[in-house]
Amino acid sequence: MKRPARATLPPEAGAPPPRQPEAPAPEAPKATAPEAPKATMPEAPKATTPKTPRATAPRAPKTPTAGAPKARPARPKAPLHGTAEAPRRARRMAAPQAEAFIRALAASNPAPETELHYSSPYTLLVAVALSAQATDVSVNKATATLFPAASTPEAMVALGEEGVGQHIRSIGLWKTKAKNVVALSRLLIERHGGAVPADRAALEALPGVGRKTANVVLNVAFGEEAMAVDTHIFRLGNRTGLAPGKTPRAVEDELMKRIPPDLLRDAHHWLILHGRYICKARLPECWHCVATAHCNYKDKVSFRLPPSRS
Ligand code: SF4
Repeated sequence: MKRPARATLPPEAGAPPPRQPEAPAPEAPKATAPEAPKATMPEAPKATTPKTPRATAPRAPKTPTAGAPKARPARPKAPLHGTAEAPRRARRMAAPQAEAFIRALAASNPAPETELHYSSPYTLLVAVALSAQATDVSVNKATATLFPAASTPEAMVALGEEGVGQHIRSIGLWKTKAKNVVALSRLLIERHGGAVPADRAALEALPGVGRKTANVVLNVAFGEEAMAVDTHIFRLGNRTGLAPGKTPRAVEDELMKRIPPDLLRDAHHWLILHGRYICKARLPECWHCVATAHCNYKDKVSFRLPPSRS
């Protein structure tokens, strides 16, 4: 019953229509579906995704890291030879050369003096004890008010740690130093009748008094031939070849052997002042050094740098 209906409709509109749907149906999907994805998918990702991240990612990190290290290596050029940071030592001077070196410093400053302000062996002892890890200028500012308040061991004990601390708070380690100053003053009263002993062992037995402080007191207050090796003399001894040594004591012993006896008493002042103002740690001012002809330092600075670098 349904078969005749099929026979009437297709033959009229017929024969061609069935062929048309068969032909376009397979051609359209075959041509569009495979070509579109094959042509667009591979080309788009290859050209865009790999190129953009590779070009941007490396450029960003290069700029911040390259700026920091470039500024740092410029500073280490400053010569530190002979310092604790760079303990490179120059060739040891010959004995006549060492004497010529010291005599050149002596000729430029015939009457050297300590830059610490003091009025007695006791105030000298206190000032030197306060000068550890502090400049002479800062110590002088502190003692400008401390010594008028207490210039004797008795007065210092009466002033007490808190009273001393009020005068020396601008100095590093002031709490420890105030405690030591009062303690050493008390011991001076108990053991030495309030006087400063001209004896190394007795001095070094006082709180806050080491070999360097004892050497300064023995040299300046009592005129003994003692060599107090501070950071300046340690650097200068190694850098110039005058007294190479790995420790302050080794430099001290070397200087005591090499410096002529007639110059030994003032040699401490000549060397410390030379190291403080001319043969500086970061930039030795060799261009106006009176002893440059006798110095074995290999990297002498023969020109004046701008003030900001010096
Ligand atoms: S020549 Fe230079 S390195 Fe040598 S002692 Fe003089 S300032 Fe120091």
